[in-house]
Amino acid sequence: MVVAFEHLVGRVWLCPGDPDPDLVQAGVAVIADERGSVLVDAGQSPSHAREIQAALRAAGLPAPRWLVYTHHHWDHVWGACAWPDVEIVGHVSGAELLRAEANRPWSVRYLREEVLRNRRLGPSFRARALAVDSWDELTVLPPTRVFADEVELPTGVLVRHVGGRHAPDSSVVVVPDSGVMLLGDSWYPPPAHLRTPADEPDLALVGRLLDDDIRWYVSSHSPPMTLDEARAAIAS
Ligand SMILES: [Zn+2]
Repeated sequence: MVVAFEHLVGRVWLCPGDPDPDLVQAGVAVIADERGSVLVDAGQSPSHAREIQAALRAAGLPAPRWLVYTHHHWDHVWGACAWPDVEIVGHVSGAELLRAEANRPWSVRYLREEVLRNRRLGPSFRARALAVDSWDELTVLPPTRVFADEVELPTGVLVRHVGGRHAPDSSVVVVPDSGVMLLGDSWYPPPAHLRTPADEPDLALVGRLLDDDIRWYVSSHSPPMTLDEARAAIAS
């Protein structure tokens, strides 16, 4: 699949992930700004991050100065080590989780051992093995700037902690001047290895976030929705 940015609205650009669910590839967003863009999520691997960088150059967008993590899951953060000169912004609870992730001996052999120990890790860990070309270049990076409830970046981008069942550190990114909210995976059920049959998408969480001034809602693994589409999805 071609990795490319598409203009959503205002200064928000989206680079969708591969639609093949087996690849577990989250999309990323850029809030373009001449003072330094904000990149929302890092790509699933260093090589994915490099494809995103080429797509940024092809679209003529200013380089990122801030990298915001919507949450700590690998497909949103493993590309971070390939982004030069960015301040990494993330929720304080995710920083703790990522320090633990950074200490694990990631390699194909380790992935295999972990899957033998817990079969439910299979789909996620197989996707990681496919995504990473070189384990030597992978470094899991915790955020360098943490926040508890909300932080406003110098270019007017808000990052707000929402939590939820998918990940305790889930945060949404609001671009008020463009009328966009980036939801990450916040309303999805927990990851497959932690999911129970009772887990469903958390539409109530989305319902609490909807705002008449925000016309677009963007999730990391789904096409963007307008406010009306999001309202309809919640009501159905
Ligand atoms: Zn996730």
